[in-house]
Amino acid sequence: MALKQYAEKHQFHIRLNTEVLSLIRKNDEFQAETNQGLFTSQHVIVATGPFQKPFIPPLSNNLDKSIKQLHSANYRNLDDLNKGSVLVVGSGNSGAQIAVELAGSHRVILSAGHRITYMPLSILGKSIFWCFDKLGILNAPSDTRLGQIIRKRPDPVFGLELKQMVKSEQIISKPKAEKVENHTVYFTDGTSVEVENVIWATGFRFDYGWLHIPNALDEHGKPIQQKGISPVNGLYYIGLPWQTSRNSALIGGVGIDAAQVVKKIYSHYNLTTI
Ligand SMILES: Cc1cc2nc3c(=O)[nH]c(=O)nc-3n(C[C@H](O)[C@H](O)[C@H](O)COP(=O)(O)OP(=O)(O)OC[C@H]3O[C@@H](n4cnc5c(N)ncnc54)[C@H](O)[C@@H]3O)c2cc1C
Repeated sequence: MALKQYAEKHQFHIRLNTEVLSLIRKNDEFQAETNQGLFTSQHVIVATGPFQKPFIPPLSNNLDKSIKQLHSANYRNLDDLNKGSVLVVGSGNSGAQIAVELAGSHRVILSAGHRITYMPLSILGKSIFWCFDKLGILNAPSDTRLGQIIRKRPDPVFGLELKQMVKSEQIISKPKAEKVENHTVYFTDGTSVEVENVIWATGFRFDYGWLHIPNALDEHGKPIQQKGISPVNGLYYIGLPWQTSRNSALIGGVGIDAAQVVKKIYSHYNLTTI
């Protein structure tokens, strides 16, 4: 059922283009100031996603102005770039896929901050995520031994194209970028390259600058929560990385966490569900 029809049937309202500019708690209720006016509520579920503010390392400031710089979040296709070589900084799945795409048209250098591990997209005709699911990897709770092991490791790169292109030197592999001077980027192995484009596939940071509720965030500005439940009465989260498991910030896993949060809200009203 389309979300709009579902909302009508269950009498909740969807407001598009409504940005929460500030959320406060006053007189036992939440007050959300938005670009469409003020809303109040007894409960708030923050589902603003795991990828909020594109992060670009400060060393980017030393690049010459003529060099085209983009964060992976803003990369669309090769029309976005200058002619010449492209340095992709960051070898997660975004960096890996962009490097592979550009290798057909540009000289591509990929800088990896850690050793890359590769996984095929499928094994014996089954998606690798199907296998992970069956092995209990995706839903391993973060406080179990398996969960801790997975959490410590960077995600593998899914698909083997990058591995093959690095091997055949279609993509030049470099370690971490540590210094930048005008057109030149220096790496931790003492080598350097001159580039015309840099794509920063360097991830995202949280941005809860709009959440003005005492005890909701820790000293790093991250939500304080256990399984999506904040110590602030009535405040909840869904979709945080490792909220309960690796699956929490993946599309297939959010439902399990959402069910827990909804259960908690229902118990507040002495209702039962799910
Ligand atoms: C490159 C990339 C590839 C990915 N590939 C996969 C994949 O293959 N499979 C998979 O399962 N997951 C993948 N993910 C993860 C996927 O993006 C997340 O699982 C999913 O988007 C999370 O959904 P969400 O609704 O929690 O957050 P989001 O999709 O990030 O949605 C958050 C929403 O909150 C809104 N918002 C933020 N702040 C405010 C505010 N103050 N007021 C109002 N609205 C606000 C945003 O505008 C946005 O619409 C990928 C992520 C990236 C970056």
